[in-house]
Amino acid sequence: MYKLIDGKKFSQEIKEELKGRMAELLASGRTRCLAVILVGNDPASAVYVRNKEKACAYIGIRSLSYVLPKETTEEELLELIGELNRREDVNGILVQLPLPAHIHEEKVLPAISPEKDVDGFHPFNVGSINTGRPGYLPCTPAGVIELLKRSGIEIEGKECVVLGRSNIVGKPMAMLLLRENATVTICHSRTVNLKDVTGRADILVVAVGRPGLVDGSYVKEGAVVIDVGIHRDENGKLCGDVDFESVAPKASAITPVPGGVGPMTIAMLMKNCVCGME
Ligand code: NAD
Repeated sequence: MYKLIDGKKFSQEIKEELKGRMAELLASGRTRCLAVILVGNDPASAVYVRNKEKACAYIGIRSLSYVLPKETTEEELLELIGELNRREDVNGILVQLPLPAHIHEEKVLPAISPEKDVDGFHPFNVGSINTGRPGYLPCTPAGVIELLKRSGIEIEGKECVVLGRSNIVGKPMAMLLLRENATVTICHSRTVNLKDVTGRADILVVAVGRPGLVDGSYVKEGAVVIDVGIHRDENGKLCGDVDFESVAPKASAITPVPGGVGPMTIAMLMKNCVCGME
């Protein structure tokens, strides 16, 4: 029988811990403020931004929201980021992705001051993960590590396979598992004999962005399976990259979608806002 890894419960635990820490900070006159910038009117992004504001309010972090029209130019966005970089009362800046096609992520993300880059996407913070210097950890991969640890799943020495090599999930996920002394393999769309590789994993982290791609045939008996994917199926129901019904009976532990990795991402963002670079 598999164990269901309850991201909702763990994220609530983290938020309670942060609320306590924030109360201590406020008592000593220190505040925290997160500025969130949303460009355009993508409905999923708007939901993410609202959830971030709600989490901030719950913990005691001030939040500032900038909802900009989709016609906003790259220069205008960079100007706003520059202004927020200079503001002493703002200690976290987040630009909600994806950006409209005419705005270049690779120009915008490095414009955020690394000290305020609570998403952990600035090249400075990416480099810090790789070299073990203090920095902001990207929220989704950091949330996966936290899920594993809080579930009592040992990472050290384990064969970990990350399916997906994106800059925001797959690559940093692999680095964080390596930092925990796992043996790590990254697979992607060009991997040959994919199932042979995923089938070796003690811990399989799936971030492919393909609904239900990973079925039981990808997974070793007794593996821990973490599903990072989020999609809406044809009935509007949330689902992941993993076909839960077929994988769960083989797994020793598995995350559900929703209620697995998703809530942890916001909890780790809040941690970055409260605790700063670690
Ligand atoms: P992405 O599209 O940037 O990257 C997907 C990766 O999967 C690529 O590296 C690609 O090589 C690989 N891939 C695609 N198809 C494949 C296949 N058939 N076989 C093997 N590899 C394949 O996606 P992303 O930004 O890393 O996101 C992945 C998923 O995670 C998406 O569903 C996204 O919505 C979700 N996501 C969730 C959270 C969260 O908070 N839970 C955060 C970020 C992303």
